[in-house]
Amino acid sequence: MNKDKAILIIQKLKNYYPDAKCSLDFETPFQMLVAVVLSAQCTDERVNKTTPSIFSKYPTVYDFDKMELSTLEELIHPCGFYKNKAKNLKAAARTIIERYGGEVPQSMDELMSIPGVGRKSANVIMLEAFHNPQGIAVDTHAKRISNRVGFSNESDPLKIEQDLLKVFPKEYYYDVNHLLVWHGRNICNSRSPKCDECPIKDLCENFNF
Ligand code: SF4
Repeated sequence: MNKDKAILIIQKLKNYYPDAKCSLDFETPFQMLVAVVLSAQCTDERVNKTTPSIFSKYPTVYDFDKMELSTLEELIHPCGFYKNKAKNLKAAARTIIERYGGEVPQSMDELMSIPGVGRKSANVIMLEAFHNPQGIAVDTHAKRISNRVGFSNESDPLKIEQDLLKVFPKEYYYDVNHLLVWHGRNICNSRSPKCDECPIKDLCENFNF
C-alpha cells in the first residue's frame, strides 16, 4: 500500500476514535511492564481489575523481587497462564535490579533482554511508559486489520511491523499503535467485522469481508 493511502486510513480512524489511548492502568514504567506481561492472552479489562490490589501492596520492582513466587502466582491467577507469567515477572524484577539498577531500561534491545518481554511488549512499554515509540506493536488486532485493510500480506508479526514501518513516518507511531487496537475491538473484530459501519470501508481491500 502506498504511504498516502495508509496515512489517510489512519487519519480517518483518528477522526473516528479521537480518544484512542492505552487501556492498561499503571503509574510507573515497572507497573506498565507488569501489566503488559499480564495482558498476554488476557483482556486489558481483566488486567486492570487484577493489578490495583497488587500495586497497592507491591508497587516497586524491589517488592516483586522480594515477593514469594507462590504469592505472585496467587495474585495474578485471574489473568491466566499465571505460573509462567509469575516466573517471568520474578525473573524480570531480578534482571532489572541486577542489570539496570532497578530502573526499567529505555531501549528496545535492553527491554527485550528482560524475561517475558518480547518485541511487541517492548514496543508498548516504549510507547506508553516512555512516550518514545520505536516501532508499532503488532498484536492480534494490528495483525488482523493490517491483513484485511491491505497494510501487509504477511502473517509473521515481525514482518507485518516492517511493512507498517515502511509506510508510516515516526510521528504516526503513537496513533497507529492505539487506533489499530481500538478499531479491532470496536468494528473490525475477529469473527464478525461491522463493515457497513466502518469509517475506512471505502479504503479497505476486504470491504464486505
Ligand atoms: S471494511 Fe470491514 S474488514 Fe475492512 S477495516 Fe472495516 S470492518 Fe475491517
